[in-house]
Amino acid sequence: MLSYQQAREMVISRLAAIMREPRTESVPVLAAQGRILAEDILADREYPPFDRSIRDGYSVRAADTHPGATLHCIGELKAGDTPSTTVQSGTCIQIMTGAALPPGADAVIMIEHTQRNADTVTLDRAVQPRQHVVPQGSEQAANKTVLTKGTRLGFAQIAAAAQVGAAQVIVFRKPRIAILSTGDEVVDYATIPGPFQIRNSNSVSLAAQAAALHAEPVLLGNAKDIHDDLREKIPTGLQADALVLSGGVSAGKYDLVEPVLKEFKAETIFDAVAIRPGKPVVFALCQGKPVFGLPGNPVSTMVTFELFVRPAVDILSGTDPSRLPFVEAVLTQRLSEKPGLTHFLPATLEYGDQARVTPLTWQGSGDIIAMSRANCLLVVPPDRETIEPGERVRVLPRGL
Ligand code: AMP
Ligand code: MG
Repeated sequence: MLSYQQAREMVISRLAAIMREPRTESVPVLAAQGRILAEDILADREYPPFDRSIRDGYSVRAADTHPGATLHCIGELKAGDTPSTTVQSGTCIQIMTGAALPPGADAVIMIEHTQRNADTVTLDRAVQPRQHVVPQGSEQAANKTVLTKGTRLGFAQIAAAAQVGAAQVIVFRKPRIAILSTGDEVVDYATIPGPFQIRNSNSVSLAAQAAALHAEPVLLGNAKDIHDDLREKIPTGLQADALVLSGGVSAGKYDLVEPVLKEFKAETIFDAVAIRPGKPVVFALCQGKPVFGLPGNPVSTMVTFELFVRPAVDILSGTDPSRLPFVEAVLTQRLSEKPGLTHFLPATLEYGDQARVTPLTWQGSGDIIAMSRANCLLVVPPDRETIEPGERVRVLPRGL
């Protein structure tokens, strides 16, 4: 059976092969957070645009400075002021953080290292040329790339775009991720279930996971475990950029997702991965679209989305798939799991001098409440039957 790493690689390589560049749209920079840049953004001028003082103090000629030197202060410069007076030998101009260095000056001495008496400034030390000055163009050359196409825009990136005058940015359109749950027992979450029915929580978690990746979830509701109902709903799902189904992929008599996908001439790439939860997970290509059949148990659905759907959504968004963000932590309790499978256990991660991880008591992959109390998944490799307290383990810290 495939390892989860092999399965992820298959998703990534198949997606890369079918991927065409997404369409683009122009959005205000403030609305672009989390989106993928579809253009290179160039600097409109040098940064900083002038030799910038990064301290409050006096702009000086470094050669004039030594402990006990006295300089004649001939003016003042605030951030935004146009420097016009030249600093001649033996003079200085008071300068504030963010102001442009005046002509003649080549350094700034901090106010804390001076004493002022009327127009006379006494220094308590020397400064070097360029000290407390960020030279013009040293952060960024004009007309050169600040942000490259394919970058995901976080708060720092949209601030950089704003700084260089990109008030509107061209980003890739959000991929549309169709979400279809299956199951005769599944009812809308906003209704009162019958005694043996359950509310559709998978469509909620899947929509939230897609939205967290800045994709657009398209909720198709729930299909009954009847060929005809699935047959009728799948074509709508194939109009989106990807279709994600939940449930109906195990070996039960009413697990119809794979057989119905076959009727649509889907090519199954895999239908089992050596993980728990989430072993019966389907990845197929159907009419040029990626289709995921995730197991219906709510924790399996969440975990398999993160492992396999997430890299696909990244690629469909126009960026490289993000790596799994493993961290190491010290296990606090003995663990014993079935070998041969990689286990992803809901757990709590505490950050301190050393990260510590504690698995939660849970009733297995249907235990969505335990999952809601976890802040990470503890990864038990397939070659380990038991792990002792104090051992270091790998953890996927996420809001999962
Ligand atoms: P299945 O994968 O269809 O065999 O479903 C496995 C388990 O997950 C069953 O206990 C289902 O009731 C439950 N389940 C299936 N679909 C959903 C859903 N949309 N929301 C919550 N639980 C579900
Ligand atoms: Mg089912």
